[in-house]
Amino acid sequence: MFALRAGRVFDGERALAPGSVVLIDGGRIVGIEEAPADVPSGCEVRDLPGATLLPGLVDAHAHLCADGTDGTLERLGEVEDAALLGTIEDGLRKQLAAGVTTVRDLGDRRYAVVEWNAKRRDGDGLPTVVAAGPPITTVGGHCANMGGEVAGISQIREAVRERAARGANVVKIMGSGGFLTTGTDVLRCQFEPDELAAAVDEAHRLGLPVTVHAHPRAAVLQAMAAGADGIEHCMFLTERGQAATAADLAELASRHIAVCVTSGAVGTPRLPPNGRAMLERFGLTVADMIAAMKRHSGVLHAAGVKLIAGADSGINSSKPHGVLPVTVQFYVAGGVPVIDALAAATSVAADSCGVGTRKGRIRRGYDADLLLVDGDAVADVSALDRPRAVYLAGRQSWAMSGQPATSDGLRGAGPT
Ligand SMILES: [Zn+2]
Repeated sequence: MFALRAGRVFDGERALAPGSVVLIDGGRIVGIEEAPADVPSGCEVRDLPGATLLPGLVDAHAHLCADGTDGTLERLGEVEDAALLGTIEDGLRKQLAAGVTTVRDLGDRRYAVVEWNAKRRDGDGLPTVVAAGPPITTVGGHCANMGGEVAGISQIREAVRERAARGANVVKIMGSGGFLTTGTDVLRCQFEPDELAAAVDEAHRLGLPVTVHAHPRAAVLQAMAAGADGIEHCMFLTERGQAATAADLAELASRHIAVCVTSGAVGTPRLPPNGRAMLERFGLTVADMIAAMKRHSGVLHAAGVKLIAGADSGINSSKPHGVLPVTVQFYVAGGVPVIDALAAATSVAADSCGVGTRKGRIRRGYDADLLLVDGDAVADVSALDRPRAVYLAGRQSWAMSGQPATSDGLRGAGPT
């Protein structure tokens, strides 16, 4: 057993008193002692003044088959299966180095991530993966090159059953066109209401949650009516710009739908022609769109909508794997209180990704997946940019040196 006593502890839901202690044994959190804390005699204590201990972060929207370069999603159709395995593991290492210990993959190329996840070894030192398999889309629809095209209700139901049979943990449906796929329209729904409802019905019958990619207001309303559990992007776009009504937002909140805005970006990506044409139609630049997403998170939060953090990691150069801390900072910049933004990237995301009984909280019995950052992340969320160490199941798996830790990046803080 060992104990971590950090200057600040955020437990996934709230900040504990400074100097609180977290006890770790056998890969699990076995106790939390709020300051002034008693530590069992003989238990090694690692003092970490000036640091914040948090649950490992959850990136609720990643593309592990994508390598974070411009055009990577558009090229996915031609990539060799073997090459994808290296991309998946490389992306996960980068996620880990940013403090992410659980990744939800929402855009597999065929079943590369699902199959990799089924074969992985226990204790491989990489984040937990929750995987959707290829997003279900229309023929020639958004991200059709990932292998999830369907036509008609019977194929939709069959596609959901196939994902369940192959071990997917969640079903992702492309409810509208997207910025990155030529020939699709971000303002148009891809499915009929009864098709989307059939997909949700089939998934729920099999015990799987459904999350729907929806940029336009029409697709958001369709996803809500269909009973979806989550909505990705959720920008409420119309020909006249963003147009969420108070009633729309109230319904989104009352249904407890997990909304992942996928804001968070570094620099400005080079969009493919389809994306550029879409933005020109709205009279927007890429920077305008990024700013709009930032503001939108605050609007959703103020309306009581359940926000979770996901970055769309991997899809282009502005969204490399490991960009999630920027997403949390964008939530705060958009008006989300720091505690709620941190919860969106920990407890709330873990609950929505189906791992909330083991991950996303510093709580007795939970996996000791932990992130240590320099500074007080509750007072200043930019502390997330300064990771010091990341623990997976109580083992220090990454340390500030940038190397996967085999012993101690923190003095005396090797795995026990
Ligand atoms: Zn995505």
